[in-house]
Amino acid sequence: MSNWDHEVDVVVLGTGGAGLTAALAAAANGAEVAVYEKSSYVGGTTAVSGGIAWIPAHNRAAAGELSVDDAMKYLQAQSLGAMDAALVETFVRTGPQMLDFVEAHSQLKFEVAEGFPDYKPELPGGQPGGGRSLNAAPFNLAELPGDWRERITSFPADFSNVGIDAETRARIHAVVDDADVCVAGTALIAGLLKGLLDLGVVPVTEARAVELYGADGRITGVRINVGDMDIRVGARRGVVLATGGFEWDAELVDAFLRGPMHGPVSPPNNTGDGLRMAMAHGAELANMGEAWWVPIVQIPGDTFEGKPRSRSVRLERTRPRSIIVNRAGKRFLNEAGEYNSMAGPFHHLDPRFGYLNDPAWIVFDSMHLKKYGFLGVEPGDAIPDWFCQSATLEELEAKTGISATGLAATLAAWNTNVANEVDPDFGRGSSAYDGYWGDAAGATPALKTLGAIDTAPYFAVPVTVGAMGTKGGPRTDRDGAVRHVDGSVIGGLFAAGNAMAGVTGKAYGGAGGTLGPAMVFGYRAGYAAATGESAS
Ligand SMILES: Cc1cc2nc3c(=O)[nH]c(=O)nc-3n(C[C@H](O)[C@H](O)[C@H](O)COP(=O)(O)OP(=O)(O)OC[C@H]3O[C@@H](n4cnc5c(N)ncnc54)[C@H](O)[C@@H]3O)c2cc1C
Repeated sequence: MSNWDHEVDVVVLGTGGAGLTAALAAAANGAEVAVYEKSSYVGGTTAVSGGIAWIPAHNRAAAGELSVDDAMKYLQAQSLGAMDAALVETFVRTGPQMLDFVEAHSQLKFEVAEGFPDYKPELPGGQPGGGRSLNAAPFNLAELPGDWRERITSFPADFSNVGIDAETRARIHAVVDDADVCVAGTALIAGLLKGLLDLGVVPVTEARAVELYGADGRITGVRINVGDMDIRVGARRGVVLATGGFEWDAELVDAFLRGPMHGPVSPPNNTGDGLRMAMAHGAELANMGEAWWVPIVQIPGDTFEGKPRSRSVRLERTRPRSIIVNRAGKRFLNEAGEYNSMAGPFHHLDPRFGYLNDPAWIVFDSMHLKKYGFLGVEPGDAIPDWFCQSATLEELEAKTGISATGLAATLAAWNTNVANEVDPDFGRGSSAYDGYWGDAAGATPALKTLGAIDTAPYFAVPVTVGAMGTKGGPRTDRDGAVRHVDGSVIGGLFAAGNAMAGVTGKAYGGAGGTLGPAMVFGYRAGYAAATGESAS
């Protein structure tokens, strides 16, 4: 194809953490870069995230250098045979280089999130004392030119836990009282954006990529839909797919994910466009059954842009005096554990009765509500119907279907065990991570999360499994170059972030476990597209 409407060296599709890092790497390495974004806003899921990046080996931690060997040991220990060791090592080794590059070429700065434990810190090579999770430092929006500060994706303030609650913000060191200063994912995006704008690259919004052009095994450009017209953009050196996952496309979700995924908590633009475009050119796919799973609550009647709104739950299942049970009234997981691994128990499939644990309920008592509130309902607020307030377990059964007999037995055992500060069934409170989002007043991880459920009225809120994004996509090499099903590399086509086959397989190493790899492979893809070489 020739006669392009516009032609550059590198085209980047999507403006989340992966896309903006790729664009920065390409532009800083001499390429003429164009960036297209489907939404009216830049930043994607990244902008509404906690803005934490997990970089498992670096020398920025106060406690000293975090080694590549430990990082590899830790990731291998949770690989379940589903990681490509070479790609994982590339991720681990490139982390510090990506951080240095981004800080040198943008206004994004990182700070070690002191004390944030890895998600399975007791595994070999794990870090119970933290050090691998890095926060985006607060960013002053006044530094952005024009109206860009108004053009970063944001959710209504109460959409996600990251948005709503002061405790979460404090834990991720995101407390500021200056209206110009943004934190978390907004700061990550704003800092990258400033660097990109300084290099003369201006993202084009409301511009959806719909088709890749290719000839002789090489991608040469993209068709972009802008309003009611299409423009054909040539890419002399490469196209980087950074269009996020496919969590908002019901057909792709049904076709690929390994179990039910009832609601994404990302903004509703990630519909697998990059995946479909790559498939049309023969891309090999990998990790397609996986998502960045998270337990969610959907409040009846609550919608966002016409679709049911899903809220991730973390504090509500970690603090004392709440548990998660199935219809039989039985617990089936460590409620305070890391969210991603919870999909396994939620997806438990009984050959006779189907999904026994989906949906489930978070059951809590009046003392929990009085002390902590629940999902935006503060202590003392009117109690909504969807809490299923009940004076007895029988009344709770009538309202929810949870077996009162089963729940009574569960609570009797639970209350005995927590008096001894143990959870022999699922080990809640035995990991350094379990206490992190619990009651800060508790002296041990167990005391931060274990508490009797014994004071009526009782409450139950349905909880199921959703996703922050999907993890599958085109399989790539260490530079993010997309592989063809015939084993070759599709020339000029790169993928990064949730648009690529995630390198950490089923695992979630620690806070920032999605943005760390997304930015590392964004960096590598942008560098390789611009230079034709590997970032060492
Ligand atoms: C509340 C919340 C908190 C989170 N906190 C963290 C955290 O602290 N750390 C962490 O590691 N992870 C976190 N996550 C997960 C993380 O945010 C995502 O996995 C990550 O942001 C994905 O980055 P990405 O660049 O691949 O995709 P995204 O950030 O989603 O960006 C993809 C972009 O591509 C655009 N796009 C889609 N299709 C097209 C198209 N056809 N043409 C052009 N553009 C297109 C989208 O509009 C979007 O802007 C969190 C998620 C949520 C919801």
